[in-house]
Amino acid sequence: MPIKSAAIIGAGIAGLTAALALARRGIPSTIFEQAEALTEVGAGLQLSPNATHILDALGVLDALVPIWLEPKEIRLVSGSSLRAIASVPSGSFAKARWGAPYGTVHRATLQRVLLGAVTANPLCTLHLGRHLDTTSRLAFDAITGVEADLVIGADGVWSKARALVLGAPSPGFSGNIAWRFTIPEALAPSILDRTSVTAFLGSSAHLVCYPIRENAAFNIVANTSGSSASHDWDTTGTEAQQAHLLRRFSGWNATIRKMLEQQEQATFWPLYEAGAGRWHNGKDVVLIGDAAHAMMPFAAQGAAMAIEDAFELAGMVASRPLPEALELFERHRTPRIARLRQRAAFNQFAYHARGPVRLARDLVLSMRPPQSLAADLDWIYGYRAIG
Ligand SMILES: Cc1cc2nc3c(=O)[nH]c(=O)nc-3n(C[C@H](O)[C@H](O)[C@H](O)COP(=O)(O)OP(=O)(O)OC[C@H]3O[C@@H](n4cnc5c(N)ncnc54)[C@H](O)[C@@H]3O)c2cc1C
Repeated sequence: MPIKSAAIIGAGIAGLTAALALARRGIPSTIFEQAEALTEVGAGLQLSPNATHILDALGVLDALVPIWLEPKEIRLVSGSSLRAIASVPSGSFAKARWGAPYGTVHRATLQRVLLGAVTANPLCTLHLGRHLDTTSRLAFDAITGVEADLVIGADGVWSKARALVLGAPSPGFSGNIAWRFTIPEALAPSILDRTSVTAFLGSSAHLVCYPIRENAAFNIVANTSGSSASHDWDTTGTEAQQAHLLRRFSGWNATIRKMLEQQEQATFWPLYEAGAGRWHNGKDVVLIGDAAHAMMPFAAQGAAMAIEDAFELAGMVASRPLPEALELFERHRTPRIARLRQRAAFNQFAYHARGPVRLARDLVLSMRPPQSLAADLDWIYGYRAIG
């Protein structure tokens, strides 16, 4: 029997998308979100065609397109000489090649658009200010007063819903730190491209920059290694941590260094990833998004995977007996997530290369036409989720 109702823990990208995807299949859901209000949490997101195709199917893409930016290119640039290393065309090329647009947007904008659709949908009920932390389904049902056929843990990298799944993944510090800040577009140095996503590459670090059009600002994320004393996203680092960041960029172009030195409000994000483990209990609980498989952001696919998970899970539980659907979900999604993790690790290796490896990287990339680099991304961006 397909399910008749679901309870969702977390109204982030995965949870809200899951509610809409279930509603599209006629299944009502109740979402429990710990935050009292969904406000400006997080940073910019690149949304690739594999995700935007789903947002279109859920009827929310039209609300994003007028406000987001569709970058012309994804550029790789030397962080010291500012020499262009390679680029992949995006914009209309992305739509033609991968069948859906590529956009940059603030996470809060995406969440607001998803929330608007959830609020307007009579099959979705959202409860804010509900932090859930239980270790059994019975306790969950008693606390929430909802006896849903399926509980979906969409509560992010620090998921408490994992306690409902024996052998669930646990998060571990990756050794990587992301520093994030924004610069008003009017004050941004001219080396920041107003029309594209740019990744500046250097030994042991890279810097991703792109415009967030709706905020008239640049989203900037500096990625490097470091140590973590905190489990929080969105905290300002200590002086020692900031000094470490600046040391990591010491050999870089002077304009980039100055930009980093001037950021007193940069937020410090220790990056945790979920290890191996089960995503469901074989019966009535499943984990999706970062709760199941938080990964490094170096392929810019974490939110996209949360969206794919939500959409594919809804299709499976709407058409099969629940235990079979949960087995299929994990079996079907695991290889794709594993391949994306490998891709993110490869990107980190290539982006942070030094010495002869860097020279070889630059040579290989300069010899490959943009079309051929785009072909490498077909399996990610051209993926069509089963809904
Ligand atoms: C620096 C950086 C850059 C990134 N860039 C990109 C990018 O360009 N493209 C991309 O696709 N991805 C990117 N990502 C990844 C992306 O942000 C995440 O993968 C995505 O937000 C995960 O969505 P989620 O819904 O699983 O979790 P979250 O977005 O973390 O949402 C979880 C929700 O659950 C709620 N919650 C938590 N615990 C409880 C509880 N106990 N009870 C009730 N509610 C709870 C939280 O308040 C939150 O609302 C990036 C990540 C980082 C760190």
